[in-house]
Amino acid sequence: MNTLQKPHVAMVTFPAMGHSIPSLDLAKLLASHSLAVSYITTHTIAQRLRGLMDKSSQAAALDIQLVGLNPSKAIQCLPEGQESMDLLPQKSGPIVLSFIESLRDPFERWVEEQGIRRPVCILSDLFIDWTVQSAERFGTIRVIFAPCGAFGTSVFHAIFGSITTNTVRKEGDSVIVDGILLSAVKFTKEQMPERLLQLDQADPGIRFLMGKMQSMSKCWGMLVNTFDELEPRYLQHLKNLLNGKPLWSVGPLVPLGCIANQRGKAADISEHKLVQWLDSKSPCSVIYVSFGSQAFLSQEQTQALARGLEASHQPFVWSIKVSPDTVSAESNQEELCASYLPEGFMERDNGLVIWGWAPQLVILSHPSVGAFMSHCGWNSTLESILMGVPMVTWPMFGEQHFNSKLVTEELGIGVQFCQHMDGIPCEDRVEICVRCVLSSEEGTDMRKRAVKYQRLAKESVGGGGSSTLNLQAFVNGMHKLMNCNGEDRIGDGYDLSV
Ligand code: UDP
Repeated sequence: MNTLQKPHVAMVTFPAMGHSIPSLDLAKLLASHSLAVSYITTHTIAQRLRGLMDKSSQAAALDIQLVGLNPSKAIQCLPEGQESMDLLPQKSGPIVLSFIESLRDPFERWVEEQGIRRPVCILSDLFIDWTVQSAERFGTIRVIFAPCGAFGTSVFHAIFGSITTNTVRKEGDSVIVDGILLSAVKFTKEQMPERLLQLDQADPGIRFLMGKMQSMSKCWGMLVNTFDELEPRYLQHLKNLLNGKPLWSVGPLVPLGCIANQRGKAADISEHKLVQWLDSKSPCSVIYVSFGSQAFLSQEQTQALARGLEASHQPFVWSIKVSPDTVSAESNQEELCASYLPEGFMERDNGLVIWGWAPQLVILSHPSVGAFMSHCGWNSTLESILMGVPMVTWPMFGEQHFNSKLVTEELGIGVQFCQHMDGIPCEDRVEICVRCVLSSEEGTDMRKRAVKYQRLAKESVGGGGSSTLNLQAFVNGMHKLMNCNGEDRIGDGYDLSV
């Protein structure tokens, strides 16, 4: 089938690693099901992904076009070459809002240039809401891709989706979120940061979330990176919110085929050295420590965590990312160790430190790794589940607090030791939690449950599994859309069943 015979889907992705990575996995999956996919991102991210993508998509002959947009100059924006959330200085909230807006004009110009290859569907990241107007303008449909889980999305929607209905109330020391499938969900003060509840429109982060959540139902359907068996109650809640429009859970999204060493960025360690080190450890004895792509710990936080890890006497692989605000690009490893780690830490040889990007899936899938210390970004959470690895959690911001609640209280596959971006870990608590997961009876039970969810996750993406069938239903829908004309394309009642 040549490109013109395939339904063309334009994926408008959000320029952050936690969004662009699963979006790329989804793009490859869709392209492997006879869709032509244009992956729309910023010029900076496109450059970063190009090298990593070309090899694998060429090998699989996938029909994916990587489109790097240059933000419109009319809007206040970011320095050239830094158009990715992980490259921004901390606290750049207001700029981010205009930066996302600045991608709309170049995207619409690109659509105009497509001629007969005009997309049948704009597959928009949940966090990009101007695609509502773009879809209207071009008479095409907008389908949302939610890279976060169903629970996190449900709670965000309850708080920010409608400012007129009162879904959140305080009760003593707790915060109750009402209306999630008719049952109230109870949060502690720590799990529900005060800032989220203030709905202060002067706060750019809050304004951002309100805009996105209020545009959530303005779509034709929604794809979610989770699987039916993991969050059935919250998926049902999202279905109710969509009011009969289709919702397809298609996760966990991982690279097609094999565990890729290079995912998102090139790893800052040789795979050979890493695997050799892991091979030398006993099964399930190592804790992998990483807080995603956007959380940079301060010296004080890093030192406290280092002391707790040492006290646990468990080997660790630790991916440390330092903020571009505080460290110059020229700093060498010795300087980094001296300013971030306790004296003599490296010489005591308790673990392996990766200064920068870790090949996360390679690490999590190694049999020596028995726990994942994580900020509970949704991708990291799903990846841990897919590998059957229980978690030690430190949620930092956004829906990470809700993901940690899901992991520790509902799924029973982890324990939380710290919270908030500016939290300082208590060394004793770090030691207790690491030992709990790696070498206690409670930890063994967590691992059994994690392995159960791993089996369900694998089944969902296997032949006949729920995510496989959902993906196929979406793909079939795109083929039907391509074969019908004009107004029928955007009719609400269009039947997308398999
Ligand atoms: N990741 C990685 N190496 C790292 C840090 C992160 O491969 O050193 C990947 C990780 O596997 C996940 C994504 O980057 O797929 C991070 O997404 P997540 O939602 O967990 O966190 P975020 O970066 O959005 O806070």
